[in-house]
Amino acid sequence: MEPTDFDALIVGHGPAGCSAALYLCRAGMRVAVIGKDRGALGRAELIGNYYGLPQPVRGSDLVSIGRQQCKELGARMLKDEVLALEWREDGVYEATLAESGAVSAKAALLATGKTRRAPNIEGIREFEGKGVSYCAVCDAFLYRGREVAVLGGGAYAKHEMEELLPLAKKITLLTHGAEPEFDPPGEVAVQTAKLLRLHGGELLTGAELEGGLTQPLQGLFVALGAASAGDLARKLGLPLKDGAVEVNAAQETTLPGLFAAGDCTGSFAQVAFAVAEGARAGMGMIQFLRN
Ligand SMILES: Cc1cc2nc3c(=O)[nH]c(=O)nc-3n(C[C@H](O)[C@H](O)[C@H](O)COP(=O)(O)OP(=O)(O)OC[C@H]3O[C@@H](n4cnc5c(N)ncnc54)[C@H](O)[C@@H]3O)c2cc1C
Repeated sequence: MEPTDFDALIVGHGPAGCSAALYLCRAGMRVAVIGKDRGALGRAELIGNYYGLPQPVRGSDLVSIGRQQCKELGARMLKDEVLALEWREDGVYEATLAESGAVSAKAALLATGKTRRAPNIEGIREFEGKGVSYCAVCDAFLYRGREVAVLGGGAYAKHEMEELLPLAKKITLLTHGAEPEFDPPGEVAVQTAKLLRLHGGELLTGAELEGGLTQPLQGLFVALGAASAGDLARKLGLPLKDGAVEVNAAQETTLPGLFAAGDCTGSFAQVAFAVAEGARAGMGMIQFLRN
């Protein structure tokens, strides 16, 4: 059986995550790197402003090179989606993955790329904290016996729905124009029409959907796409600044052994910056693990 317990776990196999992994592996640490896709770098057609490239390189090729480099050094590369990251009582970080169970480590790095902004739906920002939530683990209890919806249709939305199931009176999965990627249990209603706007007074009371449909609603849990670093950090009780994970000059968050690097910290969105922050985080994690 493959090991699930590591010295360091890294969420994201872009330039920030892989750069940290290189330092950790070369220091003899057992490292797991988890990534779900090719991230921002995979979408960059050509990178021509990074040191050491005689010709511009396709972003997607640079992702493959970085991943291969980590693999050669002994990192365990997992293609999977992280749904949640928990800091256990024994001081160990445990990541829940969509497909391969759980992975744990004494130190962890958030390197998930740019933190997702709230979707551009009328009323979402206005009702944040008054019905709109980004964290079922944190807020499900506040909505016990209430009518709620989860906005999203992927593995992360399923994870949020499961947190709400034991507490909410009624749950609707609002997939916002897409088909759900999983079969929700019978008690969960599915609505695929696009969400147009939220309404209410002091608190959220309902939503308007495409096609003139309305949905009574006291809580809306936003879970479109995958969990971003901001979502994972929020669940750990960490402060965010403009949606980015707050770190000090050593890439440390306020939790012992938890670091963040790259676009998710709100730094200048360039490969060189992500690589530098990843290297700094990797070195900090080595120091943390050795102490
Ligand atoms: C179109 C475009 C063009 C660009 N051009 C340039 C350029 O010319 N020069 C330059 O220097 N920079 C460029 N950039 C910016 C550069 O790509 C980013 O700054 C850099 O990739 C950031 O690295 P990162 O590791 O922080 O994040 P990313 O490269 O975005 O990597 C994030 C990683 O996190 C993973 N991830 C996210 N959420 C989860 C989850 N829940 N579970 C598991 N894995 C997760 C992703 O799969 C990915 O592996 C460009 C970006 C874009 C989009």
